[in-house]
Amino acid sequence: MRVLLSEYAGACYGVERALSLVEKAAATECCDLADGCIARRVSTLGPLIHNPQVVAELERRGIHEAATVAEVADTRGGILVIRSHGVTPDVIEEAEARGLVVVDATCPHVSKAQAAARELREQGMSVLVVGETGHPEVESISAHAGGDVLVVQEPDDLPKQMPGQETGIVVQTTQAPAALDAIVNELKRRGIKPHVRNTICSATLKRQQSAEALAHTVDAMVVVGGRNSGNTTRLTQICSAVTPATYHIETPDELNPEWFIGLESVGVTAGASTPQKQIDAVVQLLSCIADRIANES
Ligand code: SF4
Repeated sequence: MRVLLSEYAGACYGVERALSLVEKAAATECCDLADGCIARRVSTLGPLIHNPQVVAELERRGIHEAATVAEVADTRGGILVIRSHGVTPDVIEEAEARGLVVVDATCPHVSKAQAAARELREQGMSVLVVGETGHPEVESISAHAGGDVLVVQEPDDLPKQMPGQETGIVVQTTQAPAALDAIVNELKRRGIKPHVRNTICSATLKRQQSAEALAHTVDAMVVVGGRNSGNTTRLTQICSAVTPATYHIETPDELNPEWFIGLESVGVTAGASTPQKQIDAVVQLLSCIADRIANES
């Protein structure tokens, strides 16, 4: 059985950057009169990435997942790491007001979307965000536009009466281009002039397209990544639509050798929050399973 890795798979630029920034923060010391130089306490607001194994590993190393800024402020010499989704501006203001050191790991693509929303609002337009209501990234983009924005994911979400004749559009970075096109076409059909800032990041789309292409050429697909990761779940859905023999796993020990008996090939893909070492471990075990099946047949 051949084991094939998708052309684009695993941690994207924004996730790699967030992990590297948290590593640097964890190595920062501060001076304490009683104890001398001690490591600063590092916290993330919510899970740094949607990958339970990585978050558990950070916790083991003392990098704590906090629910609120107030919780972080209770720690001595605290560093607050902002995750790649970004936050609303008032969160950073509150953290600084409480004397925390803020390490901003907001992905630069998300920062670009936040800035676009701000600029459109400053130009006096009503702002529409194409994205998922309640998603932290969408909330951060909306807050940068002053909060009074319309969030829609498909044309049916558009209100009958739009707030103005000119609408500025910003897009959640992980949305599909088709979702943006559908909204723009519907607004044009209604005679509304859309001013589009296409802030889609290609990382998600590349992973989806290459996983789908691979799924068409293999007998089974293994998708690696957090079950709480939206983009990993989406990869699973895309692959399942091509081959029902699609398995979403978080760790290699979830692989069942029986899934692969009689198969000639298996493809592997991984979500944008799956570090390379997790992918390598799965590929390695799949190769062992392939050898074992070959020896037994
Ligand atoms: S998917 Fe794109 S926007 Fe989101 S964190 Fe990764 S690189 Fe940044």
